[in-house]
Amino acid sequence: MSEAPSGGGTFSLYIHIPFCAGLCDYCDFYSVPVSPEDHRTGPFVEALLIEAAEALRAYGAPQVPTVFIGGGTPSVLGADRMKRLLAGLRSLLPGKPEELTVEANPESADRDFLDTCREGGVTRISLGVQTFHEPSRRALHRVGEGRFLRERLHLAAELFGENFSADLITGLPLQDEKILRDDLETLLSFRPGHVSLYSLTVEEGTALARRPRSFLPPPDKADRLWIRGRDFLEAAGYEQYEVSNFSLPGKRCRHNIRYWRMENWLGLGPAASGTLVDDRTGTGRRYTVNPDVDAWLAAHVSGGADPGGAGLASRTEEYLDRPTLMKESLLMGFRFIDGPDEAAFRRRFGLSLEDAIPRTLDAWRRRDLMRRDRAALNRAGLLLLHPFLMDAFGEIA
Ligand code: SF4
Repeated sequence: MSEAPSGGGTFSLYIHIPFCAGLCDYCDFYSVPVSPEDHRTGPFVEALLIEAAEALRAYGAPQVPTVFIGGGTPSVLGADRMKRLLAGLRSLLPGKPEELTVEANPESADRDFLDTCREGGVTRISLGVQTFHEPSRRALHRVGEGRFLRERLHLAAELFGENFSADLITGLPLQDEKILRDDLETLLSFRPGHVSLYSLTVEEGTALARRPRSFLPPPDKADRLWIRGRDFLEAAGYEQYEVSNFSLPGKRCRHNIRYWRMENWLGLGPAASGTLVDDRTGTGRRYTVNPDVDAWLAAHVSGGADPGGAGLASRTEEYLDRPTLMKESLLMGFRFIDGPDEAAFRRRFGLSLEDAIPRTLDAWRRRDLMRRDRAALNRAGLLLLHPFLMDAFGEIA
């Protein structure tokens, strides 16, 4: 795994912080609940920096245009540990990234933490709001106290201007159109440059999956709520640029755009994955770090990481053959309002989108679900991404 792929010579960096103040009923991300005094968070940051150094060395210290520190809840690390992480990354990265995002939950994103982020080179904060409606938060055991939401949004706006994002969820228990509208009005009063509007999904193995279906709004009501939310955001000047993401002009998330274009990325920390694409062959490799923070820490502390590799202790690897990578490129690319990057697709697979999935593009154009100027779903088509992909995949051997 030490050979750098041919595609572009740049890598984004995703860093997974697998700690949260508690666990929300609907969440299937890998995370363990910790208190602020948890003894693992300090060694965890040091181990991350070791892993980052190894990864950057193994892959030839390429350019790193974007860094995303997500989770979990990075803000549970607190200001001091985040300061150490950011300083360590600065000394390792080949240059200043164009975009450096830190995810935070309002209850732990206090002034000290947000100041530390700003001074440490963070260009963007992403706040997990989800809803201001207390009964909905409580029904899902949403982590964090709602009373902090307004105060921390105000702080984010004061320190980062419009360079912050906030997540909202539709289809929550007890949510109706008025509650959603109140959520949106409250959130937009802080003028975030970016909003992610997610529809609640029931993931297998979560506490939510064990609840009766009647606990949630019926699917048609949940769909309607999301569409109302989309319309509200668009009317307020936020452009939908991806299935669930909206932004003011110039405030799109560059890191996520790189994912949707299947650019290379390295993942650090338990449960993180990295994807390396070889444009010469249209194939790729993916690794996933095993989701076990204690084993991961033990491997680093005992020097178990492979010094010739990229912090390679306990991870699984997967080869992405040409049809698999092509399907993934369509899956990710058609989420984006501009569709897959046509030039990259041709370079990678030696054929155009029109040659790869001609029948699907033709049929969906006739149904008026595609943009007229390029191979991309239009606003109505984005609501039907899944059936579109089923048609497209049927054309790929
Ligand atoms: S705070 Fe976020 S990452 Fe943590 S359990 Fe809740 S949804 Fe999952």
